[in-house]
Amino acid sequence: MTDVSRAEALILEQMQMLPSAQFPINKVIGSVLREDVLAERDHPPFDRVTMDGIAIKYVDWEQGLRCYRVVGSQGAGVRPLSIIKDAECIKIMTGAMLPDGADTVIPVERLTSDKNNILVEDTAKVLKGQYIHPSGSDRIAGSQLLSSGQLIGPPEMAILASSGSASVQASTPPRVAIISTGDELIDVGEEILPYQIRSSNDRAIEASLIRHCQATVTRVCLKDDPTIIQKTIKELHDKNDTVILSGGVSMGDYDFVPQALKNLSAKTIFHRIEQKPGRPMWFGVSEDRKPIFGLPGNPVSTLVCLTRYVIPALKHAMGLKITSQETVRLTKEILFKADLTYFLPVELSSDENGVALAKPRTTNTSGDFVSLANTEGFVELPRGQDRFSEGTSARLFRW
Ligand code: AMP
Ligand code: MG
Repeated sequence: MTDVSRAEALILEQMQMLPSAQFPINKVIGSVLREDVLAERDHPPFDRVTMDGIAIKYVDWEQGLRCYRVVGSQGAGVRPLSIIKDAECIKIMTGAMLPDGADTVIPVERLTSDKNNILVEDTAKVLKGQYIHPSGSDRIAGSQLLSSGQLIGPPEMAILASSGSASVQASTPPRVAIISTGDELIDVGEEILPYQIRSSNDRAIEASLIRHCQATVTRVCLKDDPTIIQKTIKELHDKNDTVILSGGVSMGDYDFVPQALKNLSAKTIFHRIEQKPGRPMWFGVSEDRKPIFGLPGNPVSTLVCLTRYVIPALKHAMGLKITSQETVRLTKEILFKADLTYFLPVELSSDENGVALAKPRTTNTSGDFVSLANTEGFVELPRGQDRFSEGTSARLFRW
């Protein structure tokens, strides 16, 4: 049996980088960026006015001038006007380029108009350069704004757009085949007999793959028939980047998956991990070096193994440079006697100091997936310890 961190390392060792491609930027939300992005121009690209008001020369204000003659009005997106003489001002709008000759903006809230003149309140406080966001003060042209390996979320999307490129290099979504096996499994919408169950693992796996990896998923549900299992694995393996199997990896008479994989010349990297739930997990690589994950069929085990191993492996293959690990504190003592890593589903909250708290949600065996509703994920409680006191800090994995 393999321990959890060894299993993780063995999987990552086998993962090959998925190809990247050029995508229109609206297609890469949630993808991994696969190139560095540099600033096309200074940020901001010009001295940007940040309030509606008037633009003046600060020396005028310093000399006590409170009445300014309006020589023009300038909105955003137009060539800048200029102040030439003393006591002149330009009515100016947020987003406009600072007019030539002006160096200070007084907001409209401090102003009153009198014909072609603007009067500034006596009580107004004016500092030189106020309400101007200076050119290049955020970043200068050519500086690196984003790096390869970053996840593209809303702020990154804004930065991509600002860099002026209509398209960008990003990871291709992984193509994943999900194969669930079991004579008892019946899909939604089909008639069900008392001794059968609904196939739910494949749906949970698909949900997670879409949520975390924007994967392109093919889902099939097979009977426990070794010939069909082997043939289907082969077909779907050839058309996808990876295959995830659910069920049929234990020691029972109908657990045909490991043998089918062996017959297909897949190499077993490990079978069984020192963990609960999910002990029977199988991992290997095909002759083409594609990773294959055999997840135990018990629904809590399936989701735990998927979240703990498969999703991080796929993110790694997409080029994601993992940044931080999340930790949370247990809200109550947990006793766990077995010499195994324990994955415990949790509900999250926080205390009055903002510390993240994990309230354990024990399940009735690893078949009890309905108890996972409204949990955010699970914590990893390491081997070699049988008591985890209240307040113990543990690593969190989100579904
Ligand atoms: P197995 O790993 O094939 O021995 O299955 C272990 C348990 O998980 C059995 O009770 C199965 O009925 C259940 N199971 C297997 N596959 C699924 C599935 N796709 N959806 C829900 N339960 C499943
Ligand atoms: Mg089975």
